[in-house]
Amino acid sequence: MNSAKPIASLSLDLDNKWSYMKTHGDSGWETFPTYLETVVPRSLAFFKEQDLAITYFIVGQDAALEKNREALAQIPAAGHEIGNHSFNHEPWLHLYSKEQLTEEFDKAEAAIESATGRQPIGFRGPGFSLSATVEEVLAERGYKYDCSKFPTYIGPLARAYYFLRSPKMSQEEREKRKKLFGTFGDGFVTLKAHELNVNGRKLMEIPVTTFPGVKTPIHFSYLLYLACFSETSAWLYFNAALRFCKLAGVEPSMLLHPLDFLDGGDARELEFFPAMNMDHKKKIELLNEFVGRLTRDFETVKLGEHAEIAGKRSRPLTSTDPAAVQ
Ligand SMILES: [Zn+2]
Repeated sequence: MNSAKPIASLSLDLDNKWSYMKTHGDSGWETFPTYLETVVPRSLAFFKEQDLAITYFIVGQDAALEKNREALAQIPAAGHEIGNHSFNHEPWLHLYSKEQLTEEFDKAEAAIESATGRQPIGFRGPGFSLSATVEEVLAERGYKYDCSKFPTYIGPLARAYYFLRSPKMSQEEREKRKKLFGTFGDGFVTLKAHELNVNGRKLMEIPVTTFPGVKTPIHFSYLLYLACFSETSAWLYFNAALRFCKLAGVEPSMLLHPLDFLDGGDARELEFFPAMNMDHKKKIELLNEFVGRLTRDFETVKLGEHAEIAGKRSRPLTSTDPAAVQ
């Protein structure tokens, strides 16, 4: 019976072609090249087939451009939730001042609402960037949840590999990206959804789920990457991760990216990314099985619902609470 299952949530960060090029330091991103007209219908067809409603995190800059509006309008029309993924998609968002953040959120919310008719209640920072000031801005603007935390110890390793594959990047560009994919300390963040008290305001935090204990990634891009070497290993790994989540009482919040639905032929500029040599039809076939495995054991909902359910369980702190009186 469905109601007996623990919950999970599923989201897709709608990073566009230009945002990958920008983070990678490639020229040509300034005209905002897009693949949304391909990836949006492809992903919507996939979720329809799965009978799933998920959360799409949209970049404000994409929503502000006429050429993307038709594709973006299809997302809420298909019943999915719309989240805010910043305006400029700069993974160094944690370096922004409060004034810069206010401008960033003003622009992103206006563009996203104009393109989708929805005012986001959830946020995911580009490249999982987050700061205390970002949390403050979210709480003040009435956001219900943040999901920018990515608890893993391997962030610095992933970043080193990324720099190695980006030889043209200047020292200044590297400096801005020095927290890309996070720091070692991020590994100590809990995997469970939890309530934050931000200057007296409530904000739910739903971290991206990683493998309980070892905190290695389990998002679908990583599983597809593993499947390039061995599908059997990818399955063993994913099955074990979900089993450990159940044992640890973690409600998995799983993540998808546009590249999970695309191959090198769809985006030549991004051919060097992991798993881009796998045909998109093969990727979708594998996703179908991976997501099917998740929904078999977990009642899979949008992030807004995940935040609401987890929020009802968490105990707000009062002034007499021992945790509040340090
Ligand atoms: Zn992103």
